[in-house]
Amino acid sequence: MTAAALSSVLPENAARICLVESEQIGTIGVGEATIPDIINFNAMLGIPEAEFLKATNGTFKLGIQFVNWGRQGESYMHPFGQHGVDMNGIDFHQYWLKYRQDHPDSSIEDFSLSAIAAQGGKFAMPDPNPRSVLSQLRYAYHFDATAYARYLRGFAEQRGVRRIEGKVTHIGQHPETGFITHIDLESGESVDGDLFFDCTGFRGMLISQTLGVSFQDWSHWLPCDTAQAIACERTGEILPYTISTAKQAGWQWRIPTQHRTGNGHIYSSKLLSDDEAIDSLLQDLDGPALGSPRKIRFQTGHRTKLWEKNCVAIGLSGGFLEPLESTSLFLIQEGISKFISLYPTAAMPAVVSDEYNRQLVKKFEQVRDFIILHYKATERDDSEFWNYTRTMDIPDSLSARMELFQEAGRIFRYEDELFAKPNWIAVLLGQNIAPKSVDPIIGAVGAADITRSLQSMRSAMQGAVAKMQTHRAFLEHYAWSGETV
Ligand SMILES: Cc1cc2nc3c(=O)[nH]c(=O)nc-3n(C[C@H](O)[C@H](O)[C@H](O)COP(=O)(O)OP(=O)(O)OC[C@H]3O[C@@H](n4cnc5c(N)ncnc54)[C@H](O)[C@@H]3O)c2cc1C
Repeated sequence: MTAAALSSVLPENAARICLVESEQIGTIGVGEATIPDIINFNAMLGIPEAEFLKATNGTFKLGIQFVNWGRQGESYMHPFGQHGVDMNGIDFHQYWLKYRQDHPDSSIEDFSLSAIAAQGGKFAMPDPNPRSVLSQLRYAYHFDATAYARYLRGFAEQRGVRRIEGKVTHIGQHPETGFITHIDLESGESVDGDLFFDCTGFRGMLISQTLGVSFQDWSHWLPCDTAQAIACERTGEILPYTISTAKQAGWQWRIPTQHRTGNGHIYSSKLLSDDEAIDSLLQDLDGPALGSPRKIRFQTGHRTKLWEKNCVAIGLSGGFLEPLESTSLFLIQEGISKFISLYPTAAMPAVVSDEYNRQLVKKFEQVRDFIILHYKATERDDSEFWNYTRTMDIPDSLSARMELFQEAGRIFRYEDELFAKPNWIAVLLGQNIAPKSVDPIIGAVGAADITRSLQSMRSAMQGAVAKMQTHRAFLEHYAWSGETV
């Protein structure tokens, strides 16, 4: 992603870019679910959507269904896009909270176009006309991450990036400044550079092993540390959403691509053995397994500096938050776009890297709070894992936000946070965090008016979804790869 974006965005001759990769080491190969911002990344590079979907066996994603998170036996949808329409400057969910007093069976999902389409297995492109109900649809993709990396490599090479296949064995530093001067490969070749992106994954070969930048560990808030990943044959329809199911000591994902289903179990190795995790994963597959489960160990947190001297850590080398809300590729995008907006002079001024670090760390913290919310806002008491997360101390920033919401349903988006009000609302309400009272301003609006407005919104959305194609039919017409496993 970094080489492709820089080769596409930087003016010709601004830089010579070299990409070193080792097929022997390979990529981590997971990272199949995304959020809508990936559309902007591909658009910035000028990648045609249908071509990209075919090349990566991609499908559309309208949100995530969370099963057994708030309580066992319950599920809710975290859809992309907004719920309903804000009216008279007041958030839609405030109207809905009042509406629910007279309609206790109502769910806020009934007012999300993405959620209604997801549940019906439907898809359509959003309408750019803001007056159309279809303008409320938001989507992202599921895809084969290895195929995406391959596609972007080809893209970068076409734009002048020199790719070198080989294993890095040594990293040279300036004896006085400690700046990285070159990398040595197993083949004997040496590659000089002014600036180095560490994209070596969890090993952090440059940022950690060479420059010794420390790690901010968040495992006390996010105790999962291991994943088992396996693909299986797809048997049913191609769902236009990810499924995340809470388990005894973690959770499992199910991600449908065109040719298969990606599955994984993320868990705390202190509370669940590998064998137990694998058994649970294999039992829940909805088709024959393709290969055996692959174990991945991880630590949650980030490098205290993502840009140190002349090295910028992008991807897993810079930090990792479990893929509960599919945010890792987004954090890579953020790293790239912040780097472009802070493109340094050869002197590599510290003020530039300090600003980069401040902004990136803030992004990690904001995403962290949203992910912790899923673990904290639970009533589950059926295992040591859930007892721990339900009762643990959480960051002040998150507890203040939860308390404000519980008072009268107020929620705000701070600075340029990734997750907006509808995202927080979906998870807070989905996991049974209920405000004690409705907003006093809404208290003054007549219940009959609110009912009329909401029911007309709902029927407009249901009408729009009824006219959509099934997700599969849309894909077959638009970007079918035809590949089988
Ligand atoms: C269990 C799990 C599930 C995930 N799910 C999602 C998801 O659904 N959505 C999402 O957005 N993200 C997800 N992620 C994160 C996502 O996988 C990564 O952010 C993404 O794949 C980028 O990885 P990377 O390039 O940093 O590292 P890697 O994929 O590990 O790539 C490292 C690269 O460095 C090269 N390399 C390393 N050492 C050397 C060396 N010595 N010499 C030469 N080359 C070297 C390798 O060859 C490779 O090309 C998930 C991560 C995990 C662990």
